[in-house]
Amino acid sequence: MHNKFNTKYLEKIFNLAKKNNYDFISLEKLYDLKGDIKKKFVLRLDVEYQPHSLKNFIKIAKKFKVPMTIYVRVSGPYNFFWYNTFKYLQKASNDGHEIGLHTTPYEWGKLNKQKTNQILDVEVQVIKNFFKLKSISTHRDLNYTYNSLPWFEKNWLKIKKKYKLKYHAYDKKLFKQVQYVNEGFNPHLCWRNKSPEECISKGESIYMLLHPHWWYEDNPFEHEYSN
Ligand SMILES: [Zn+2]
Repeated sequence: MHNKFNTKYLEKIFNLAKKNNYDFISLEKLYDLKGDIKKKFVLRLDVEYQPHSLKNFIKIAKKFKVPMTIYVRVSGPYNFFWYNTFKYLQKASNDGHEIGLHTTPYEWGKLNKQKTNQILDVEVQVIKNFFKLKSISTHRDLNYTYNSLPWFEKNWLKIKKKYKLKYHAYDKKLFKQVQYVNEGFNPHLCWRNKSPEECISKGESIYMLLHPHWWYEDNPFEHEYSN
C-alpha cells in the first residue's frame, strides 16, 4: 500500500490512540517521567524539507491536543528566516509546542572544512533568539558519510552545559519503555519497524518521529513551491 501517509491517516492514528485511552505527552514530559510508563504517545517532528508542511500538523495537533516537539534546521536545505518557515514555527510555539534544533554540525564542518563547534554555536544562537531552546535532535544524512550523532554523544555534557539544554532526542533514557515508531524509505515510504496501530493494539507506549513534508492533505505534491 503506497501513499497512505496523509492527514486522514494521521487523524485515524490519533483517534485510535484516544479510543484506547492513550495520553498524548510531550517529549520533554517523557524525559521527566519516572517509574512505569503506560499508554503514553509522544510526537516528534524533524523538519527536513518544505517547512510550511507544518501547517497541517499544527491544525491536527490542536484538534487532538497533541503536544509536539518540532526540530527545525538552520543550515539545512531551506531558510529558517523565510516568512512561511518562521510563520509556522512561531504559530507552533504560540500553541505551546516545543521548537528545537535539528542539526548535523559534524557533517557540515567536515564538508565545508570548518569547525564543528562553530556551526553548532551559530545554529543554537539563531534558535535561541526567537524560541526557548531546550533540546536538539541530530540529523543523519541518508548516506551516513559524516554521521553527527557519535560526535554529539561524545560531547553532549559539554554542549548541554554550554547552551543550558535539558535533553536531546536520542537520549537513551527516552527509549527505555517505549516503542520508537518512524517512517522512511524501504524502498518506498513505509513504517520503518512497527506501525503505531501495532503498538496501540499491544498497549505499548509510543515515541513517534514523523517528517511533515511526507504527510499531505490533498496530494503528495501539495508542499512543493510553485512559480
Ligand atoms: Zn533529519
